[in-house]
Amino acid sequence: MRLILVLGDQLSDDLAALRQADPARDLIVMAEVMEEGSYVPHHPQKIALVLTAMRKFAARLRGQGFRVAYAALDDPETGPSLPAEVIRRMAETGAEEVLVTTPGDWRLLASLRDLPLPLRFLPDDRFLCPPEVFTAWASERKSLRMEWFYRDMRRRTGLLMAGSEPVGGQWNFDHDNRKPAAPDLLRPAPLRFAPDAATEAVLDLVAARFPGHFGRLRPFHWPTDRAEALHALDHFITQSLPRFGDEQDAMLESDPFLSHSLLSSSLNIGLLSPFEVCQRAEAAYHAGTAPLAAVEGFIRQIIGWREYVRGIWALKGPDYLTQNALNHSAPLPAAYWGAPTRMNCLSTAVAQTRDHAYAHHIHRLMITGNFALLAGVDPAEVHAWYLAVYIDAIEWVEAPNTLGMSQFADGGLLASKPYVSSGAYINRMSDYCGTCHYRVKERTGPRACPFNPLYWHFLMRHRDRFARNPRMAQMYRSFDRMEAPLQSALLAEAEGILARLAAGTEV
Ligand code: FAD
Ligand code: SF4
Repeated sequence: MRLILVLGDQLSDDLAALRQADPARDLIVMAEVMEEGSYVPHHPQKIALVLTAMRKFAARLRGQGFRVAYAALDDPETGPSLPAEVIRRMAETGAEEVLVTTPGDWRLLASLRDLPLPLRFLPDDRFLCPPEVFTAWASERKSLRMEWFYRDMRRRTGLLMAGSEPVGGQWNFDHDNRKPAAPDLLRPAPLRFAPDAATEAVLDLVAARFPGHFGRLRPFHWPTDRAEALHALDHFITQSLPRFGDEQDAMLESDPFLSHSLLSSSLNIGLLSPFEVCQRAEAAYHAGTAPLAAVEGFIRQIIGWREYVRGIWALKGPDYLTQNALNHSAPLPAAYWGAPTRMNCLSTAVAQTRDHAYAHHIHRLMITGNFALLAGVDPAEVHAWYLAVYIDAIEWVEAPNTLGMSQFADGGLLASKPYVSSGAYINRMSDYCGTCHYRVKERTGPRACPFNPLYWHFLMRHRDRFARNPRMAQMYRSFDRMEAPLQSALLAEAEGILARLAAGTEV
C-alpha cells in the first residue's frame, strides 16, 4: 500500500500522483495543518478558499472510489505540519512509500525532502512548458525576455497560429490594448458564488483560528470546486473577454475588477487547466465574439507570463528568494497593512486587497509594487506581503513577479528596466488622482504627489546602475536639464518622505 499526498494547490483530477494511484490499494492523504495557514499571515479568504476546495476535492475523490484519509484543522489528532501528518499516516498504515506531486514552494519541498521516509516526488506536469524545456530555452540565450519565450509557446501549443505564422500576422497587439477605462461604461459584475453549508463551516473555522490576519473574510465569493470554476470561466469568456485588452492596465476607484478574469486562484489551485482556459478564449475569437487583440493579450498572460515565471522559479531555485540587487532595506510602510495614508491610489489598492484578497496586475505592479520600490523597501518584506495577501499567491508565481518583475531584486533577469513611474502614469491610467489629497502635477511642496520626488530620488540613487540603460537614459537627461534648485528640492522632498515612512508617520 502507498500513500498519495495531495496538497492544497493540487486539486486536479489529472494530477501526476493521482494518475498513479490505485483506488484498490492506495490511500490518498490530505491535511489541513496550521503551519501551512500561518507561515505568512495569509489573507483569511485565501485560507478559506484552500480549505473549502480541499474538502470538496476529497469528497470528489471519494465519489471516484478512492479512500481518503483527511485531517481537518479542528481535529485534535491533526499534526501541526505536513511532514508531521505524513509521519503519522505512515505509522498508522505501515505504507511502503509516499508519492507526492512536487510542491511549488521551496520551503515545503525542503521540509518533505528532509523526511527520513521513502518519499517519491513526481513532476508537476500541469504546466504547458516542462522545466527541462524551459532550461533548454534559457541555456541558449543571454537575455531571458518573455516575448521570445511566448512566441515559442505559441508555436509549441498551436494557439492562435495559422501554420507557422501568428493569426492576424502579428505576435503582439499591445499597441491596440491598454487604454484608460471609461468610468461610466456598464460592465457585467464578476460572478459571485454564494457560500454553501460546507463553505460556511470553513468560514467559521477560519474566523476562529486566524483572527489576527489582515483582510476581510466575508463576503466570500470565490469558486471552490471545478463546476464553479468552469462557470466562472464561462462568465469571463462571454462577458468580459471582449474588453480584456482595452482595460488590461486601467484602474477605476469604483471597480476593482474591470474586465479581468479573476481566474488565477482557480488556475493556481488546480480547478482549471491553463490550456483549457486558453482554448476557450481562442474559440471565442474564432466564433467572432471577442476581438483578436483581447484574446491574444489574454492568452499571452497565461502561456507567456504564467509559464515563464514558473520556468524562472524552477530554473533559479531557492536562492532566487533572497536576492536584493538594489540593496534596499527600508521596512514595509504600515499603509500596506491598512494604516491610514493620504495617497488615494495606495489606500484604494490596499482596501481592495483587504476586502477581496484581490488586486489586478497594474495595482500590484504600478501602485503597491512601484511605491515599495521607490521607497527602497527590503524586497524580502515585499515578497512576504504579496505572498500573504492575495487569493492566488503561491511561491512559484508570486516570487518571480514580486522580486523580479516588480522589485528588480534579481538585477534585471525578468525586467529590462525597473517598473517605476511618477504620478503621471497613475493619473493617465486611473481616476484616483482627482480625489486625492495630493496633487499629481506638483513636483515639490507639501501637496506634491509623493510618487514624483520619490521617482527622481530612485533614479539618482541608482544612477550608476541605470544611467546607461537605453530605456532609461532619456529620464536621466531630463533630470540633468532641470535647474539645480529644482533638482535639490526634489531630492530633499523625497528624503523627507523617506524619513516620514521610516518613522512610521502617515504619508
Ligand atoms: P487576468 O488579468 O484576468 O489575467 C489572466 C490570467 O493570466 C491570470 O489569471 C493569471 O493566471 C495569468 N497571469 C497574468 N499575469 C500574470 C503574471 N505576471 N504572472 C503569472 N500569471 C499571470 N499572479 C498569481 O497568480 N499569483 C501571485 O501570487 C501573483 N503575484 C503577483 C505579484 C506582483 C508584484 C505582480 C506584479 C503580479 C503578480 N501576479 C500574481 C500576476 C497577476 O497580477 C495576477 O495573475 C492577476 O492579477 C490575477 O488576476 P486575474 O485572474 O483577474 O488575471
Ligand atoms: Fe496617487 Fe499621487 Fe495620484 Fe494621489 S496624486 S492618487 S498619490 S498618483
